Amino acid sequence: MKTVYSTSQSDYSIATIGSHSALQILKGAKDEGFKTICICDKASRKPYESYRVADEILEVESFGDFFTIEQELIKRNAVVIPHGSFISHLGPERVQDLQCFHYGSKGILIWESDRKKERQWLLSAGLNLPKIFERPEDIDCPVIVKFHGARGGLGYFIANSTGEFYENMKRYPAEKDYVIQEYIVGVPMYCHFFYSRLTKELEIMSFDKRYESNADSIGRIAARDQLSVHINTSYTIVGNIPVVIRESLLPQLFEMGERVVEASRDLVDAGLFGPFCLEMIVDKNLNFYVFEISARIVAGTNLYPNGSPYTDLRYDVPMSTGRRIARDIKEGIESNQFEKVLG
Ligand code: AMP
Ligand code: AMP
Repeated sequence: MKTVYSTSQSDYSIATIGSHSALQILKGAKDEGFKTICICDKASRKPYESYRVADEILEVESFGDFFTIEQELIKRNAVVIPHGSFISHLGPERVQDLQCFHYGSKGILIWESDRKKERQWLLSAGLNLPKIFERPEDIDCPVIVKFHGARGGLGYFIANSTGEFYENMKRYPAEKDYVIQEYIVGVPMYCHFFYSRLTKELEIMSFDKRYESNADSIGRIAARDQLSVHINTSYTIVGNIPVVIRESLLPQLFEMGERVVEASRDLVDAGLFGPFCLEMIVDKNLNFYVFEISARIVAGTNLYPNGSPYTDLRYDVPMSTGRRIARDIKEGIESNQFEKVLG
């Protein structure tokens, strides 16, 4: 039997964990008329109080204890919005066990967080991906070696040969879970998409590039100094920088986004919906190499709480990705299609 949900927005609230993109998510939810809840630990409360985005703060001992307050969320009809920290603290498997309302497909989080599955998905969508080397012995071009998990690029290294690979791996004797990927010379470009199951339309919300330490600081010293002090390139995420893309490249990106959504329908029931991001390097011949997908809001959208150069074209109110999520939920509630925003 189909569950009957209230069609009154005031019966619901929007909740997330206090980190990553919570400020924007909660501000957007308030702008769309929702009550908001921020789940914090002792150390994380301050910004959510100072910026006035949370109507209520639920405190947990640590984020891993999320399930201890789940009943409180259920009582308040809260819709939880997953983001990078939410998934890294709970793990995609535990997200599947949530009993409270969850925005977006839970199943697709399993696909995005497993490098092999993710690659299978992106290839089935016909996207261009950097080559993967199964064996270090096969390395015949510059490669980037990535360790498993969303650790914000910590510990990645570049190698030019099999010998360099093993030399670098000495620093990580315990690591068994890594991927060796062709290093693409080009510029990073992160495209923020939004797909709604209600409107059945794909939108490009904005773009960013990352500000990474020490990849973004190495160029500040001479090559001679880089060599003499043995600096290794690493990609620890510190912040994000706005970009707009050459306009003639937009049609191709819409097509790539649409193919990703379509391919996701073969993987999980409702397919991918809500915000997602294709993380790419664009080379000098304007080829896009997709090295990752995030099937949820990315923190690069934090640049645009007041809307982006793209959302400004389409909306007559400042439309952040956080607000777009809240609007999707609101439209779902009011049109009696709430189950279409849940996963
Ligand atoms: P945090 O809550 O800051 O520990 O972030 C959790 C994870 O989300 C990190 O490990 C990163 O992979 C990702 N993340 C956090 N902040 C950003 C950001 N500004 N840009 C991109 N990714 C981020
Ligand atoms: P990731 O943790 O996969 O998001 O990668 C962190 C950073 O490494 C990215 O922001 C890029 O700057 C860089 N990167 C990742 N993969 C590649 C690649 N295949 N070629 C060149 N740069 C890459």
